[in-house]
Amino acid sequence: MEQEITAIQPQLTQHFAKLINEKRLAHAYLLSGASGTGKLSLAVWIAQGIFCNQRNADGTPCLKCSECRRIAANEHPDVVRIIPEGRSIKVDQVRYLKSEFSKSGLEGNRKVFIIQDVEKMTTSAANSLLKFIEEPNGSITAFLLSSHANQILPTIVSRCQVVEMASLNRETQLKRLMDAGIDKAVASVLVNLNADLDELVALGTDEQFQKLLAEVVNWMKAILADDWRAFVYIQTRLMPLVDERPAQERLLELMVMICRDLILLRYHQDAEVAFITEKKMLAQAAAQIPASQLTKGVELVMNCWNQLAVNVSYQNVLEGLTLRLCRCYHKR
Ligand SMILES: [Zn+2]
Repeated sequence: MEQEITAIQPQLTQHFAKLINEKRLAHAYLLSGASGTGKLSLAVWIAQGIFCNQRNADGTPCLKCSECRRIAANEHPDVVRIIPEGRSIKVDQVRYLKSEFSKSGLEGNRKVFIIQDVEKMTTSAANSLLKFIEEPNGSITAFLLSSHANQILPTIVSRCQVVEMASLNRETQLKRLMDAGIDKAVASVLVNLNADLDELVALGTDEQFQKLLAEVVNWMKAILADDWRAFVYIQTRLMPLVDERPAQERLLELMVMICRDLILLRYHQDAEVAFITEKKMLAQAAAQIPASQLTKGVELVMNCWNQLAVNVSYQNVLEGLTLRLCRCYHKR
């Protein structure tokens, strides 16, 4: 993964390579971004850039020398990583970090530490860390990593340079999901969901979610065929798969997605759709429906969120939606 970071975060790696070259690294960085955006890889890569024996002229690490390899393997005495023990990062772990760094004479002066999930630091650990960051010792560079930067103590944030990781583009995300063993058809839907990579991988490997995808397709096929069974499918096929609110919200997201696919295909036969295996069927159906009606269809699904907010039963909302979509697409 370290080799990939220049592809995932081209601007940031370029930026940090320049800082390394010009010896202008700050004392503490907060790398903030969703899981999968390469926070740890970036921190490791910068550490390699700092210690590399054969650094390239542009400041990037060679990734081959002994220093680079030891850092990648987490076996470098001057690059220390801290991960939460259970649910929190405790003061003992910060003490450990300090004691590691106080061992003088190890591999020169520079020290780098990387703290993962920094929002899990207890207050006392954070206070201890703050004192450490503020010691006027120019040779320490700290990387604090977090997917939930809004949960970090403001006193910590204010002492760091905050670096927002760019979110993954669609291709990278697709590739990651497929590398995790997820089928392309499922991955294409997942990249359209509003969630970070870990959640998407969990969903993609969940059998219930895969069933849900298949049933959303069946539901839409019935609507497009003006088949009354679409209404029945809500109770018999979809409701059993969404027993809890998060799953219910996912189902609505999937419904918006498949309605949006219809619009995309109405305008471009080769549009990048979510439901790739149904592309041909959806394109043929979309060609028969006026674009204005397809747009209205998406609005009808979006309206369901408002209805749910005022406590209408979930099943009633979906049944009402099904009837309205049938009328909308078949102009009754
Ligand atoms: Zn190297």
